[in-house]
Amino acid sequence: MLGSDPSTNIAIPKLPKEIEGLEKISLNLWWTWNPQGKALFKYISPYLWKESGHNPIKLLKSLSDEDFKALVKNENFMKEYRYVLTLFENYINNSAQKQNSLPIAYFCAEYGLHHSVPIYSGGLGFLAGDILKESSDMNIPMVGVGFMYPQGYIRQIIGSDGWQNGANETINKDIAPIERVMDKENNHFIIKVPFIDPPVYTAVWKINVGRVTLYLLDTDIDKNDPWDRQISSHLYVPDPNQRLRQQIVLGIGGYRVLEELGIEYSILHLNEGHPAFALFERVRNFMEKEKLSLNDALQKVRETSIFTTHTPLQTATDVYSFDMMSNYFSDYWKRLGMSKDEFLNLGLNPDAPEVGFNMTVFGLKMCDQRNAVSKKHCEVTKEIWKSVFKEDKKDKTQIDYVTNGVHLPTWLGDEFRKNLDKTFGENWLDLQDDISLWSQIDNIDNKILWDIAYANKMAMVNFIRERVRQKWSNEGIDPLVAMAEGVMLDPDVLTIGFARRMTSYKRSDLILRDLDRLEKIVCNSEKPVQIIFAGKAHPSDNPGKKIIQNIFKTAQNPRFKGRIAFVEDYGEEVAKYLVKGVDVWLNNPKIPLEACGTSGMKASINGTIHLSSWDGWWIEGYNQKNGWVIGGKISNDGKDASAIYDILENEIVPLYYGNKDKWIEKMKESISTISPNFSARRMMKEYLEKFYLPISKKINLKDEI
Ligand SMILES: *Cc1c(COP(=O)(O)O)cnc(C)c1O
Repeated sequence: MLGSDPSTNIAIPKLPKEIEGLEKISLNLWWTWNPQGKALFKYISPYLWKESGHNPIKLLKSLSDEDFKALVKNENFMKEYRYVLTLFENYINNSAQKQNSLPIAYFCAEYGLHHSVPIYSGGLGFLAGDILKESSDMNIPMVGVGFMYPQGYIRQIIGSDGWQNGANETINKDIAPIERVMDKENNHFIIKVPFIDPPVYTAVWKINVGRVTLYLLDTDIDKNDPWDRQISSHLYVPDPNQRLRQQIVLGIGGYRVLEELGIEYSILHLNEGHPAFALFERVRNFMEKEKLSLNDALQKVRETSIFTTHTPLQTATDVYSFDMMSNYFSDYWKRLGMSKDEFLNLGLNPDAPEVGFNMTVFGLKMCDQRNAVSKKHCEVTKEIWKSVFKEDKKDKTQIDYVTNGVHLPTWLGDEFRKNLDKTFGENWLDLQDDISLWSQIDNIDNKILWDIAYANKMAMVNFIRERVRQKWSNEGIDPLVAMAEGVMLDPDVLTIGFARRMTSYKRSDLILRDLDRLEKIVCNSEKPVQIIFAGKAHPSDNPGKKIIQNIFKTAQNPRFKGRIAFVEDYGEEVAKYLVKGVDVWLNNPKIPLEACGTSGMKASINGTIHLSSWDGWWIEGYNQKNGWVIGGKISNDGKDASAIYDILENEIVPLYYGNKDKWIEKMKESISTISPNFSARRMMKEYLEKFYLPISKKINLKDEI
């Protein structure tokens, strides 16, 4: 077994013995969802903690030996330190009783965990991140596999013309909470990805997510040619050849990494099609290691693998031409004893057989357990892939669904959580998916809830203004740009938030459709409304960038008096301010293209009320009292925009300004109905009940989960 002790992160300075536990704590993302952990780092220096962008490693690196000595002498700090270290160690060691069971291997192309590790672009990544965190909390044995992306995703910079210019957000490996995995000779562990010729190598890093380990592949190493070094440089490279190589490295290389690390696992869970090539490697492995026939190996892979699909569109899946596939896999199918046709047929879409190998079709065909991510998305999936399911005779259920959820300890605001601790009792998180627990929400005083929401709004406004101030000082921006970026936001004004990936189907600028009507709502002198937008467009998505430009130009228009703002560089940090800082969360995708959506859940659990199209999770979440629905069951831009204005004019604005208690009642309804049902706890219990437990029972694992 290869080792990996904390000293493999070269960044952390030598700490005095008395506080050496700080190293372990900072090299585990546990602190990101435990307020006591955050408080400890803040205690060291509130100023440096903020300066570090809430990154403990950066914080520790900025301290001198004298600073450390002073900390050791500080009795209050040492008390806090010992308390947090005990909490942390108890949490980690509590996994002892589960150590005998084989983990589930979870593969995903991106993970949204914390802004100090920018290896995500959006919802898929945050779902994967929340799944790892919740598995850790629930003691579900799991190991994650993903990519390092040294150049991360783009850092968004909006020009004064409203056009998105991206700079690469490079990961600074010296201050990210990542560790090198080391080999027996104490060198950085590197594997050769099987079957790529000329060979490609990948180094391996790891991130500790509580009790779960996430392994990250990194091709940016000297051993590779420049072209190969870039395989893992960015998320979702558009060039199909490079993208195919990326997915071979993730699936097949990732599989090989676990194998060489000696990590045996029982179940393979593929989150979306990107890592699906791992299925081939699993077949090969069963044939070569367990001497199974091809058919038996295929059968075993089907029985023990889970495929989660996230797209409601056939065209949004990855398809590789047969020529490209043959370039990389012609030795591979021989090795499996398959003919070229047999092999390529596994990814053949009956509706478009000529275009190539479809990764989603491949995942669906190769896994008996498959799921969509909401009830509605399940219906859509059955429809769009019905030809695939028709070929599949034996499985009657075809496809199930597990509606996404969000990791409550990550997304609940700290102040609100403290209050829940008081109201529900210290250990309430153990019962977080129990609806009856949440009926006690009425025990929270209305004024307290309002004050928390107001403080969150204030914090958000300050954060936004501070960012503009920085930009003003550094670059000397135009006053209208400063206005568009939010300097004139007012915490006393009813605030609508719209933050998500900027892409056509989300219709981010729908609310700007009738500017005259919007102006009347926004600029009402007695009951004004402000709207905050945020979101990145994929660097190659020009329609998405045009939407941003439209929003930005509208925000720059003096007629809206600074009440419309676009916040740059949406990511985990901005999301955390917005979901709890605004009053209403707007979501108006084109039906049925929002497979699930999760940002509305993050908002709702904090008392930010959801205003959404009849799509994704909202169909399951809405109960008439906990938010609002826009338009009908079929999207129509004109009608939907009108519906938004109607609801704002007739319901939202009068309620917010006219009857605070009724508003707070709605907040409570939102919190208490959505938190239990859309928690990651409920989601992981469903994954356990629907998939993980039945599979492990079926294959008769000696060590059950
Ligand atoms: C939750 C989250 C998302 C996903 O939100 P959707 O509602 O699915 O669009 C995207 N980006 C960030 C930063 C998030 O926190």
